[in-house]
Amino acid sequence: MHDETRQAALAAPELLLAPEWTLLPEGSAAGLGVVVRDGVFADIGPLAEVALRHPQLTPVALPQRLLMPGFVDAHHHLTQSFGKALAFGEPSEIFRRLWVPLESSLDAESLYLSAKLAALEALRGGFTTVCDAGTRAAEGLDAVAAATRDAGVRCVLGRICNDDGSRHTEVVAEAERFLAGATSLLHPSLAVSIPEVATDAMLHAASRLCAEAGAVFQVHVNEHLASVERSLVARGLRPLQHLGAAGALGPQALLAHCTMLVPDEVLLLRDSGSAVAINPVASQWKGNAVAPTGLLAALKVRLGLGTDGTRSDAFRMMDAGEANQRIAFGLANGDSSCGGGRLWLDLATRGGAEAAGLGHVTGSVEIGKAADFLLVDLDVPELTPSWDLRWELVRLASRDQIASVHVGGRLRLWQGWPVDWDARALLADVRRIARDSVARAPIHKVHPGSDFSSASG
Ligand SMILES: [Zn+2]
Repeated sequence: MHDETRQAALAAPELLLAPEWTLLPEGSAAGLGVVVRDGVFADIGPLAEVALRHPQLTPVALPQRLLMPGFVDAHHHLTQSFGKALAFGEPSEIFRRLWVPLESSLDAESLYLSAKLAALEALRGGFTTVCDAGTRAAEGLDAVAAATRDAGVRCVLGRICNDDGSRHTEVVAEAERFLAGATSLLHPSLAVSIPEVATDAMLHAASRLCAEAGAVFQVHVNEHLASVERSLVARGLRPLQHLGAAGALGPQALLAHCTMLVPDEVLLLRDSGSAVAINPVASQWKGNAVAPTGLLAALKVRLGLGTDGTRSDAFRMMDAGEANQRIAFGLANGDSSCGGGRLWLDLATRGGAEAAGLGHVTGSVEIGKAADFLLVDLDVPELTPSWDLRWELVRLASRDQIASVHVGGRLRLWQGWPVDWDARALLADVRRIARDSVARAPIHKVHPGSDFSSASG
């Protein structure tokens, strides 16, 4: 089948897919048929049997293709995309000097464009779901919601509930309204940037509201030495302990980072049922430490993987996670496998969905779940011959192999580009306004940069 014919076939609202391989929760299987109907996986089984059950559908043959669940980015900041490389080389707590000034200077148009750019990058990198931890931009979340809807990515969208105590009732009322606004691709969430910027009453209230609404409550904790020590000085508690003392932990809590944990905090995570978004590239680029992922996974702490806005490439995210684990822990204790391919692929798909409160919606190829999936080209030298597909996906695969991206059963990207909107026009718009947006923001950058600094010298 020619590429154009296959693209047209995959754009149909109802599909019987016949990939050579399908990645199921228990591993990869050959020769299955997968029916997509009304945006969900409606039937999965041996191709001949599935074809008999659905005689009205013509199978779309997909030789040397892997049908796998779309990746879940369990921690992202969609409105930081204009500043990506500006953060390189910066010391910790970049949000104070870069992200808050940048996000605060975005207007409705630049918010929409930056979020749509980030959504496009996510889809190109294999993410069908992104979990946004909340923008600090005053213009509100409408532009971000519109951008993710127009790009076609599933989005858990956090509304920031930071408060100083004076607006408690108002913030809670706004949060309740926001949580009621779910759509098929938009899943509302509440967030507090770091525990110290909200009152204990708000930490508790926001977490409770999320628990009642079946949503997730997002907070950054224990990422940097500076914030851990500040919390100790101000409260006598580390940030994660502070959340526990405020009654804000529980299965609804999705905690970003958790790289610097004392034993008590490991137990606090396990016993509260809270989930953690591990951000391996953030550790490499700007962190103080690597989250003890192997230990947390062994203790059955609920885990997903996130980009934290660093680089929206799901394969490189998994690779970074595994490499971090090996260097930070496996080298010293002689663990050469560090979870193998299975752990990292699971955390990047099913685990992330579950951590983001969407375990019943997405994250695996199962009947009844949303048809959020990728078709990956296995007909490449790097994966030939294949011996351990899950580990090969972690260590060897590349986003260039993603032939198509489907969200809610709908074809959104073909060969890396959207099929129903003009991404090149978006890039031109971003180039037109991003420089001004950044110039307007009172950013304090410490690292001089590697490129422009040499221009004068
Ligand atoms: Zn973050």
